[in-house]
Amino acid sequence: MEAIRSVTGDPEPFIPLHAPLFVGNEATYTAQTIADNWVSTNGEFNAKFETRLAEICGVSDVIATMNGTSALHLSLLMVGVRPGDEVLIPALTFVATANAVSHAGAIPHLCDAEWTTLGMDPAKLRRHLADIAEDRNGVTVNRQTGRRLAAIVPVHILGHSADIEGLLEVASEFGIVMVEDAAEGLGTLRNGVQIGSDGVLNALSFNGNKIVTTGGGGAIMTNDVELAGHVRHVATTAKKPHPWEYDHDAVGYNYRMPNLNAALGMGQLENLDMLVTAKRTLAARYAKAFAGVNGLRFFEEPPNQTSNYWLNGIVLDEEHSSAREDIIVALNDAGYGVRPLWRPMNELPMYVAAPQMDLSVATDARARIINIPSGSGLGLDS
Ligand SMILES: *Cc1c(COP(=O)(O)O)cnc(C)c1O
Repeated sequence: MEAIRSVTGDPEPFIPLHAPLFVGNEATYTAQTIADNWVSTNGEFNAKFETRLAEICGVSDVIATMNGTSALHLSLLMVGVRPGDEVLIPALTFVATANAVSHAGAIPHLCDAEWTTLGMDPAKLRRHLADIAEDRNGVTVNRQTGRRLAAIVPVHILGHSADIEGLLEVASEFGIVMVEDAAEGLGTLRNGVQIGSDGVLNALSFNGNKIVTTGGGGAIMTNDVELAGHVRHVATTAKKPHPWEYDHDAVGYNYRMPNLNAALGMGQLENLDMLVTAKRTLAARYAKAFAGVNGLRFFEEPPNQTSNYWLNGIVLDEEHSSAREDIIVALNDAGYGVRPLWRPMNELPMYVAAPQMDLSVATDARARIINIPSGSGLGLDS
């Protein structure tokens, strides 16, 4: 507790796990959407927000959506995930990853994590697929269930990049298409490049607790210009462009981000560098404060990465994992918004029976990691 206090200062009366930070043009831009009488989709800020994001992420196309879950759902549909398919996801993730698979009518197939990145373990996945996957006339099938293994969705946990190179290799070996859940990864660089463009389609989230928020929002990013056109069309009720006619040529979705939210997001994006710097400053302060503390370590970014440190985490030594709950209770009582890592998906009633591999690392990480206050505001010079 002393180590956290030395970094965050005293709770007055409570320091949330993650508070957004609005110090730029957010209020001006959102007010402008009202003054312009243009708060819904297809506004000026929608276009600006998408263009700016595409520049930041180094992709040809961005489609801004209502939230990260809808971005993931539509991405899965658009890469061809169909009801009855299986989709490989990490057991250790926020529930939205699994839910998006379910929304597509598919079944999450739960994979284990590795300690370096907290993301999916490529080596373990390769061994698992070598065991269970089978090529049936060019279709990769789980021979235990008879279902198609349609896609793999790595997640960048706590803002640290998963081993995408390793996972891409496994995916291509087994003929499985990749969609990245980069919801937590805006501002994270791997080998100097913004993450979130290695899948065919890739999803971001701008929920209130993410590094950049639009209130609620998300985005699909891709370098496939033709596919981007289809995604945009289906996300916009599959309406064909026409000044007045209602011509819809498919069952579409109403998934586009409203202009009001994009305006807030534009104000945030203008400060992305500052938000990332503040988070990295905060992480460096925590790393120093926890350096001398026995029984735990501060979770540091994996090699070859410049992480956005979306959520900071401490890892209890194995012999102290039983103290996790008591520590969380004591810190919350003292005004520090700390939380455990998510329950692995196999511990949630909807996904207990999901196909899965050995999940010992995910289980261990859940038992030992505590997330500590991480809002960018805490990393500003006071
Ligand atoms: C936040 C988050 C999402 C979903 O985003 P929403 O915008 O809340 O729908 C998906 N996956 C992960 C890993 C997330 O952290």
